[in-house]
Amino acid sequence: MLISIVVPCFNEEEIIGRFHDQVTKEISRLDAEFELLYVDDGSKDRTFELLQEIAGRDPRARYVSFSRNFGKEAAMLAGLRHAAGDAVVIMDADLQHPPELIGRMMELHAQGHDQVIAQRTRKGDRVTRTLTARLYYRLINRLVDVELVDGVGDFRMLSRRTVDAVLELTEYNRFSKGLFSWVGFRTATFGYENAVREQGRSAWTFGKLLNYGLDGVISFNNKPLRAAVYLGMLLLGIATAYSAWIVGVAMVNGVDTPGYVTLLVVVTALAGVQMVMLGVVGEYVGRIYYEVKRRPHFLVEATNVTGRERTVPSQ
Ligand code: UDP
Ligand code: MG
Repeated sequence: MLISIVVPCFNEEEIIGRFHDQVTKEISRLDAEFELLYVDDGSKDRTFELLQEIAGRDPRARYVSFSRNFGKEAAMLAGLRHAAGDAVVIMDADLQHPPELIGRMMELHAQGHDQVIAQRTRKGDRVTRTLTARLYYRLINRLVDVELVDGVGDFRMLSRRTVDAVLELTEYNRFSKGLFSWVGFRTATFGYENAVREQGRSAWTFGKLLNYGLDGVISFNNKPLRAAVYLGMLLLGIATAYSAWIVGVAMVNGVDTPGYVTLLVVVTALAGVQMVMLGVVGEYVGRIYYEVKRRPHFLVEATNVTGRERTVPSQ
């Protein structure tokens, strides 16, 4: 059995060497063949040189290097496409995903689980981060059609058929948590305590997280559009009732001129609602625009993986 370990790397020069040493030490104990597939996501530091160096001394190491930073989603996709393994493990380069868990994953995989998910506890996280996460998942699970679980990230082992299924999903806006969940198959989850990032710093800024959240909602359903329709109907109902009343009053009492305040309130409120609705529609239109262009998810500048990329079925 061959297992591919896919590792997205963006500016990880400080830790990548140590990562490789730790992982190779760990897998030497395990009963399977391995390949380490590093995806350099357009790093601006020496990550790429270090990966070449690692590949030079360890034939199990492969790299795919992007022409620029395309984001972690694209890096994972590239990893899955280039992976040759009967199963694929996805893990971060920053050693927050303990390599010791690969063995446990293999056990669960051998028991017939297609997706083995490591769920991290939030011990040691900042309180604000824990709270926002909790709020985010409560909110998002009400909105999306797939089940998203806190602490469940991309650290997981996928069977070959799961990988192939994920590769069939060719959308441009990728939200892996949702995609993995959408694919389904037999899933096993086990918990682990997350390690604090040892070197470098998380590339996630608050803005990026916010955008990620919006992506999650919009790429997995059209409930915002539905909400817009209901809100529109509600407002129309209120407006109709109010107009009927105003007209009735005018007919009985005659027109009384003042009404400037009411008018202004109604106009601004409706304008605000319309802007939001337009924004919602715009989000979807924007997505359609990106999808129809069918641009590649990433561009490979250099790689030592030969003739393996699984081409996506064209439509
Ligand atoms: N990463 C990437 N491209 C990016 C940002 C991050 O490939 O644009 C990689 C990064 O090198 C790491 C993993 O994705 O291996 C997770 O990133 P990070 O540790 O910054 O995120 P967090 O652990 O805070 O979710
Ligand atoms: Mg990290």
